[in-house]
Amino acid sequence: MTRRFDLQGHRGARGLFPENTIEGFRAALAIGVDMFELDVGLSADGIPVVHHDLGPNPAVARGADGAWLDPPTPLLHALTRAEIARYDVGRLRPGSAYAAQFPEQRPIDGARIPTLAAVLDVDPAVGFNLELKTDPTRPDATAPSIVVAEAALAVVEQGGATGRVMFESFDWRGPRHLRRLRPDLRFAWLTDARSVADAALWWDGPHPGDFGGSVPRAVAAEGGGVWAPAHAELTGELVAEAHDLGLSVIPWTVNQLADMRRLIAWGVDGLITDYPDRAHVVMAASGLTLPPPRLPPSDR
Ligand code: MG
Repeated sequence: MTRRFDLQGHRGARGLFPENTIEGFRAALAIGVDMFELDVGLSADGIPVVHHDLGPNPAVARGADGAWLDPPTPLLHALTRAEIARYDVGRLRPGSAYAAQFPEQRPIDGARIPTLAAVLDVDPAVGFNLELKTDPTRPDATAPSIVVAEAALAVVEQGGATGRVMFESFDWRGPRHLRRLRPDLRFAWLTDARSVADAALWWDGPHPGDFGGSVPRAVAAEGGGVWAPAHAELTGELVAEAHDLGLSVIPWTVNQLADMRRLIAWGVDGLITDYPDRAHVVMAASGLTLPPPRLPPSDR
């Protein structure tokens, strides 16, 4: 039996192309991924848009005048879709720590913050892992988690994409709500040390202590199929425990070859990475089936 493995390009392929942009997703298609991980927020006029931060990230965003934004930037929640579309997010801010983190990223000037609907149209076959960006520690910074989740689901349904998406969030309220509405869809439960330590907020109900301190057991109790932990917090024992509970394990954000090798040896069911090209090397050496490269739509 061929082992199913989900290679997920993080924000497209952040290490190589501008994150969370149509241009970046299109370019990353040519590498070959099963899914794109991306981040979903809501504009003031209720349109799901794809950007990681709750406001335009000053490390990637320039205004309509071409000037780099300085913090604090406005919240997406306070900007209309038309206002959000004015930012250029096609280049890392020169000299920033963020630019130093991704020296291989090729700029694509003019790339905009896209709508979720436009991103789903990038390719008819690739999957999308939609991270719902709500933060229970900043309840006024976004629409309520349930509103963001329902808006994202509506776009997915309108785009006929329910069969090739999963929903995830550190804020479990959104996916939990969607799972009640659509138990047939795929869900991933994101965790890291911070959200586990403050589970009263991020999980809104269950607590690791209710499960003998076991995060995989807490995830299994939610009923979703996928646990998405921070990779540095994962152990081989935890992967085995999750598998015994019937969960798939897809850690984030795995960028180093040695980490990819170790995690694949532990039997993880996928990787979320800024460098799907590097993952191909390790997957091939491990005998995993590689997702095929896909031509960008303009070249078909
Ligand atoms: Mg994300």
